[in-house]
Amino acid sequence: MAYDKALFSQLYDGIKDMRVIDCHEHMQGLKGRPGYKEPIASLIHGYVSSDLQAAAFGVPETELATLQDESVSTDKKWPLFERLWRATEHTAYARVTKLVLKNQYGIDRLTRDSLESVRAKLSERTDESYFETIDSAGIDAMIVDVLGWLGDDFPKYLAGDFVFPEKWKLMVSLPSLHPTTANRGTIDGIGRLTNASITSIDGFLEAVFSLIKRCVERGAVGLKDQSAYQRVISYDLVPRADDDRKCNRILSDANESLGWPESKPLNDFLFHRYMEFAKELDLPVQLHTGHMAGIRNRVGKTNAAHLTSMLEVHRDVNFDLFHGNWPYLGDLLFLGKNYPNVSLDLCWLHIIDPDYSVELLERATKTLPHTKIHGFGGDYGDVPEYAAAHLEIAKENIAVALTRLVESRWIDEEEALHLAQSWLFDNPNRFFKLGL
Ligand SMILES: [Zn+2]
Repeated sequence: MAYDKALFSQLYDGIKDMRVIDCHEHMQGLKGRPGYKEPIASLIHGYVSSDLQAAAFGVPETELATLQDESVSTDKKWPLFERLWRATEHTAYARVTKLVLKNQYGIDRLTRDSLESVRAKLSERTDESYFETIDSAGIDAMIVDVLGWLGDDFPKYLAGDFVFPEKWKLMVSLPSLHPTTANRGTIDGIGRLTNASITSIDGFLEAVFSLIKRCVERGAVGLKDQSAYQRVISYDLVPRADDDRKCNRILSDANESLGWPESKPLNDFLFHRYMEFAKELDLPVQLHTGHMAGIRNRVGKTNAAHLTSMLEVHRDVNFDLFHGNWPYLGDLLFLGKNYPNVSLDLCWLHIIDPDYSVELLERATKTLPHTKIHGFGGDYGDVPEYAAAHLEIAKENIAVALTRLVESRWIDEEEALHLAQSWLFDNPNRFFKLGL
């Protein structure tokens, strides 16, 4: 991807200190902080482990899992890790690890010796440095999807006894409210959280509505769904009677369960009702589209093109479509151009495929309103140093895309910086109504 290096440096200088709204994270606010006890485990958090897996042909999964185990010694892990790292060290996920190595531990190249220098500095990763890392990355707010992972703390959150740090803007997680495998336990779980005795599909929907409303009272700013991991994201409009029947079956017999694809009509029906809730409560909806974390999943079912009829039905709901719909770029540009209620969210994309994210930004600038682009989301757990490194790569990608647009005289330098400011801050600030 050719571009003018001097112009790039000039634009990057204008972008690198811009304030950022991070449009997607899974951080719990210290709760999930790793132990930082062993160097290799500390350097392979998040997505890079998927690349190691992809390189590990013939390695038993149990052996691979030891790499992430902080109690296994570095010497024991090193031969396998070195082989897999050398095979993957040039991917964008690995580049995040390289930046963490450089920025947090002052090391340029990963070797067995350098791991001892990492070990000596692991204790410097503290609760304080967790928040400092987020602050010094210039992140003013984060859209966080973590409510579905809180376990016992979720009822405390609902009661106001578990409070997130101020920068956290929470999303309500939808997949567990319309699981692909449903049984009486699904219904009872919602009943317990909402103090409701549920005896019908209407009662279930009332309980879910009150649950979402309670989250909004606690400050939640939207709904998030990543059912694409489990199912095709085509949501059909289905006749009501069919759903009543299926719901009644699991209500009236605790041993009954609905599996996939038998559960699809009921699942689709519930999803459409939740989109009506989004309209009623004026909440934007984030949807996973495209590539999935991990390996051996099927990407075809996640193509945003499957959402078309749903986007058509729910015209009053604002949708934020994730991950550049990788690898289906053209389909995503069509949706953004064609539907006023669709925005494009580049969360995670900058390290899935940097050149694709540059291409997306360039082509989106020429095909759809620039107000519909959300430029960055880290998509990491409680390892903010990884999100900060990801942001560094994202800002480079943004600077490359803008350099190419200025070089071809599509825009001038002032307009380029205005676009970066819109993508990184102004657009998500407006879309999620953060008022920053
Ligand atoms: Zn995510």
